[in-house]
Amino acid sequence: MSKNIINIITNANYESKKTATNLHKVLTNYGYEPFNGFNKNAELSICIGGDGSFIKAIHKNDFPDMPFVGINTGHLGFYQEIKPDEIEKLVKDYKNGNYNVDDIKLIRSDIYTKNKVYKFYSINEVVLKAAHSKTIHMNVFIDRNHVEKFSGDGVLVSTPSGSTAYNFSSGGAIVYPSLHVLQMTPISPVNSAAYRSLGSSVIVPGVHTISLVVEKRYKDSNLLLVDGSEYFFNNLHRVNIRLSNKVIKKLVFSNNSYWDNLKDKFL
Ligand code: NAD
Repeated sequence: MSKNIINIITNANYESKKTATNLHKVLTNYGYEPFNGFNKNAELSICIGGDGSFIKAIHKNDFPDMPFVGINTGHLGFYQEIKPDEIEKLVKDYKNGNYNVDDIKLIRSDIYTKNKVYKFYSINEVVLKAAHSKTIHMNVFIDRNHVEKFSGDGVLVSTPSGSTAYNFSSGGAIVYPSLHVLQMTPISPVNSAAYRSLGSSVIVPGVHTISLVVEKRYKDSNLLLVDGSEYFFNNLHRVNIRLSNKVIKKLVFSNNSYWDNLKDKFL
C-alpha cells in the first residue's frame, strides 16, 4: 500500500465526472497522488455516484482491504455520505485523521449445484428465487434446524447495512449496521391451506448458517440475486448463507450520519 495514492472511482454521469475533476485538484493540492480508477496499492478509494456505484466498485475490485468513502451524486446514498460541495472538508479531515472506520459486514453464500460449488459475497443481500417469476418451494434450515417449508416469490437474507435496501422494501426491519446478525425476509410468502410460510422476518446471530434447500421438483432454473446482480443455476441443491469474517472498511466523518440518512430517505 502506498501512503500517497488515492483512487477516484466514478460513474459516467456528468455531475460525477465534474466532481471527479474537482476532487483530483483538491487531492493534488493536499499532496496526494490521485489515481483515476482502481490501483490496488492506494491507501483509500473514493467512489463517486450513488449506492449502486459503491456496490459495483467493491464487487468489480474483489472486495479490497483498503477503506472506501463515497461522494453522492445519485439519489440519497446510504453508502455515499459526502456531498460534492464537501470535498475540501473531506480531504482536510482525512489528512488530519478526523474520521472513524466502520466495518460493513458481508454475507458469504455457498451455492451447491450437482457438479460444482460457487461462492459469492454480498454487501446488501442475497435472494433465492425461481427463474421466470415462478413460485419457489424450499426448506429453510437455521444451523441444521428445520424452520419451515417456504413457498412464495423467494427468500432474502440481508446484512445489517443492507437491511435498509431491498429487505426494507420487502417488509424487513432496519438493523443497526454494527450488529453482528443476519436477517431472513420472505418475499410474498404463500399462506394457504396447502402451504404455511412465516410472514415476517427472522433475525439470527451472525454465527448461524441459514440453509435454503430447494425441493427436488424445483431444482432446475433458480435465480440468485447478489446485490441486485442475477445468476441463474440449474441443478441447484442448497444455498448456505452466513456472515463472513471479511468486511469492507468505510470512513465515517460524523457520528450522526446514519440517523440523518435514515430520516432523509424514509421520513
Ligand atoms: P439501484 O442503483 O437502482 O439501487 C436501488 C436503490 O437501492 C437505490 O435507491 C439505492 O440508493 C438503494 N440502496 C442500495 N443499497 C442500499 C442500502 N444499503 N440502504 C438503503 N438503500 C440502498 O440498483 P443497483 O445499483 O443494482 O443496487 C442494487 C441494490 O438495489 C440491491 O442490493 C437491492 O438492495 C436494491 N434493490 C431494491 C429493490 C426494492 O427495494 N424493491 C429491488 C431490487 C433491488
